[in-house]
Amino acid sequence: MGMGLLVSILIVGEILSTRLTRRIVMQNLALSFMEVLAERVTLDNQARANLKALEKGKQGEDAFRERVKELLPEGWLMLCDLKLPTSASYCQIDALVIAPHCVYVFEVKNYQAKYQYDEGRLASQSGLSPIRDPFGQIQRAVTVVKDALSYQIPVTGRVVYMQEYDTVDFQGQRSGEYLKRWQLQDFFEKEAEMAMYRFDPESVRSVLLVQQIQDYHCINYQGLSLRPQARTGILCEGCLSGAVRRNSRVHIACERCGKLEALERAVVRTIYDYGVLYYQDELKIQPVHAFVGQDVNLHTLRTILKKHFVVHNHNKSSYYENPRTRFTYLAKDYRFKYDV
Ligand SMILES: [Zn+2]
Repeated sequence: MGMGLLVSILIVGEILSTRLTRRIVMQNLALSFMEVLAERVTLDNQARANLKALEKGKQGEDAFRERVKELLPEGWLMLCDLKLPTSASYCQIDALVIAPHCVYVFEVKNYQAKYQYDEGRLASQSGLSPIRDPFGQIQRAVTVVKDALSYQIPVTGRVVYMQEYDTVDFQGQRSGEYLKRWQLQDFFEKEAEMAMYRFDPESVRSVLLVQQIQDYHCINYQGLSLRPQARTGILCEGCLSGAVRRNSRVHIACERCGKLEALERAVVRTIYDYGVLYYQDELKIQPVHAFVGQDVNLHTLRTILKKHFVVHNHNKSSYYENPRTRFTYLAKDYRFKYDV
């Protein structure tokens, strides 16, 4: 990347499923939810398959983002995981690139099994159930973006296949509507050649960001039915066992693997887990206390919540903002006084 390159990458929220299609695409929070669930309950086959699919999807999107960051012409912008409202629900957009003349919408796929495009669907060559037409999906996303931009700006869409090997055979059909990962460079080079300045990408981004939604309350992730069975309490960070005990005022120790951890850190980590598991709620002290466990008294818990989470006061009751992310995603920035 050259000097002064105006590349702006924004991760705006999680990837959502739409209630309309029930497609599981709520990548980040959905994946975190399944990860926390997997640590606290034995997943059934369906939930295990869901977790695997979410991991694959996330890998594909990360790979796309990294690649496009390298290829983005100067002044073009990228938005990832954008959710826009629709009349019935909302539409999740994997990635969107704003050029000064056009907006590109990308639906990112990461299939490992071999598929062949056949009569509007992708048929598996190894007996997996067929995948519905990805072009209908991208068309819908394009319409939603056009709508959000009041039809003043050209919007075009591509399905992108990010797997390393060519696993999807279109049999000569749908050419120009999809990209394989090795075609991305060519695509952006050609598009940059044709680009002309028609509008300011920054202002288009603002228009989209104002409209994005962060609506966790109405989403029911797959696996939600397993949540009541989830183990509560602090789990050992090393071996995930629940056999952790206070061994001093400020530390806990695992009886199984012997790992020591600062109590404050373990509590914060567990509150983050709670927050992901109960993503529809904000953090209230009583349910959080019930989850963290009686080893930590209310006073200590309140002190920790105040210190590490954003408080909101509403009349007499207060709650803390649910960060809806895993502690492990932030742990590098976190330091605790009694860290071991
Ligand atoms: Zn352990």
